[in-house]
Amino acid sequence: MRVGVLALQGAVREHLRAVQRLGHTGIEVRLPHHLHGLDAIILPGGESTAMRRLLDKAELLLPLREFVLRKPTLGTCAGAILLAKRLEPAGEAPVLGVLDVTVQRNAYGSQMDSFTGAGDVAGVSDFPLVFIRAPRFTALGPNVSAVALWQNHIVGVRAGLLWALAFHPELTEDLRLHAMFLR
Ligand code: GLN
Repeated sequence: MRVGVLALQGAVREHLRAVQRLGHTGIEVRLPHHLHGLDAIILPGGESTAMRRLLDKAELLLPLREFVLRKPTLGTCAGAILLAKRLEPAGEAPVLGVLDVTVQRNAYGSQMDSFTGAGDVAGVSDFPLVFIRAPRFTALGPNVSAVALWQNHIVGVRAGLLWALAFHPELTEDLRLHAMFLR
């Protein structure tokens, strides 16, 4: 498969490497025409405010929105923030606004800026979880299901072809999550 990785900013290389290690072709997406012919896309972690600005500048916001409404999409961390319909603190405008969830940015504050743990992902326990200034899913719409839990917090969700994670599977050697998504 041809799998795009939004390559404006953030953990791009790590996702491309995971895609390639699973035997697929990873494509950097920086401009609207890079979306042509892709089977799926990954929106990486990084800084969602910077991505919002760069998406605008590249005139990629609308074409990307149309793409993620049709094709399998995985958003990790900042990528999950891009997908959400509602952001907290309230008043922040959504970016792509396609996934019926509320996401609180930087939910673990400065004391727990970055941390690792183990959680339950799609029925697999002891899944390695890396959090970096992580967001938190605070409300899910009726068609959204939780696929990852860490200490009773929902840290991964899915609604049909849209997947969003608060953690960074691309920063571990564990490829199971990418494999599940690409299957
Ligand atoms: N806190 C970042 C944001 O608001 C997300 C952090 C990350 O992607 N690791 O965009």
